[in-house]
Amino acid sequence: MWQTGPRDASALSVSEQFGPLTDVPAQIGDLRVQGAGGGQRRGAAWLLRHRPNATVTCRYVVSTAGQPPAPSQWLRPVVTPTFFHGVGNAFLLVPHVGAGYPETYDVLLRWRLPAGWRGACSWGVGGVVSDRLSPADVRHSVYLAGALRTHRAALAGGGELTLAMVDAFAFDAARLADLAATLITDQCDFMRESRFPPFVITAMPAGRAVPGETTPIGGLGLYRSLALALPAETPITDTIEHLLAHEIFHYWNGRLLRPADPEDLVAWFTEGLTDYYALRLLHERGRWTADTLAVWLNRHLAAYVENPARNATNEEIRARRRGAAKTYGEVAYQRGLLLGLRWHRLARDRGVSDGLDRLFRELVERGRTTGLRASNDNVRSIGTRVLGAWFAEEFDRHVARGDTVELPEDALAPALRLERGVVPPRFVVPGAVAPKGE
Ligand SMILES: [Zn+2]
Repeated sequence: MWQTGPRDASALSVSEQFGPLTDVPAQIGDLRVQGAGGGQRRGAAWLLRHRPNATVTCRYVVSTAGQPPAPSQWLRPVVTPTFFHGVGNAFLLVPHVGAGYPETYDVLLRWRLPAGWRGACSWGVGGVVSDRLSPADVRHSVYLAGALRTHRAALAGGGELTLAMVDAFAFDAARLADLAATLITDQCDFMRESRFPPFVITAMPAGRAVPGETTPIGGLGLYRSLALALPAETPITDTIEHLLAHEIFHYWNGRLLRPADPEDLVAWFTEGLTDYYALRLLHERGRWTADTLAVWLNRHLAAYVENPARNATNEEIRARRRGAAKTYGEVAYQRGLLLGLRWHRLARDRGVSDGLDRLFRELVERGRTTGLRASNDNVRSIGTRVLGAWFAEEFDRHVARGDTVELPEDALAPALRLERGVVPPRFVVPGAVAPKGE
């Protein structure tokens, strides 16, 4: 239901595409509008005419993923006998923004659920929740209902984390919530963050964990929240720790410091540097041993050496990243991770005591205070000023031209040493006995 205020015309819209859904408007069926006329669809919007101060009610049917949902389909709305899961981008009609319509609204969510079910979303857990939100925030939110297990954990600085997960998992809700709270606290400490918002994590079961194979897990950072899709039987592994650390770090690299459009051109920064900091902090803050960090980095180094799109330009990544996820999609992650390792070392070698972190914190602070967005031009010019003139040439070589990134041997000294004489190069723990054979 929507109270229109003094207007006599309104528009509702959905995302055009989202995740596996290439045509979100086509998922909306049988739209019935009360309290307004019109309702013709134009693209992803429905235009309505009504008297001033009308209350408009919309009902519609959403097509959903099959069940159990395939891991690749978890971002579609999912309805099963035991739970509902949906990200707003995939199914929610929200007020259209722009053209004089308000930027934010008082939004109230009242769940109507089967007996024994509870509801949770990015901006509140419980049967009735409300907040002042932009339509984009309503859409960039996850909605979960079912027989849920919940757990709250305190965050340093006074905030609170709430985990809401379908009652299907082998692990304890408290364990996952406490892990996430620890990672948030570590990252806030590193980023000198004192205003981390209340945060929600949801988890729904999807896929199966097969011993010896990579666990199929999905994660998506959303408005003050993170949505996870995991096999029900999975234990909490370093794969889950990495996913949480990566998605939580997007609070700074992605939300406070938003990528400039088109964001695919800065995917190396938004995704790759997020992965760099996620991995580095897992080790630096004592959660991972140097061995575990080496396993993860070596996997990326090997994939980078073998990636035929290793030297793709940002324009090529933009054009091909979705169609060729393993090559053009991955190179942005690989390049950003390797540049994080390289530039942090080079900056410290050139007298910047806090290395690359000085640039990253400065960019985030400007994102927070002035709305600066991360574009390649901004990163190059601010980086050159903050880190030194050397940075301009580095940037042009590796970001603009896509030259192969080489790592200094002491990139992670003293914890790890890089062996460069082998292909692919690999990190080893100094002094450890090297494994025999290949
Ligand atoms: Zn990411």
